[in-house]
Amino acid sequence: MGRRKTKKIVVRPKPKVPSVFNCPACGKKAVKVEISKTEKTATVKCGSCNMELTIPAHALMEPVDAYGEFVDAFKKAEIKPEISSDY
Ligand SMILES: [Zn+2]
Repeated sequence: MGRRKTKKIVVRPKPKVPSVFNCPACGKKAVKVEISKTEKTATVKCGSCNMELTIPAHALMEPVDAYGEFVDAFKKAEIKPEISSDY
């Protein structure tokens, strides 16, 4: 009469939002968002084309919000990718 001990594995879903996004300029998934709660700024930067945007961040700002601003700014031609001349 073996009693089976069932192991309970509790999977805790992590509410972690991915903070790497697709770049609207170069199309690569290399856009990183860093939110500094102390400085109240969000820096969105593409590691591929070096396009960068720093915006004021509020307490509830999520990386995806900052990324949205990044895409917006690109569409409005407020920011441009830094492409070296030999590219
Ligand atoms: Zn890019």
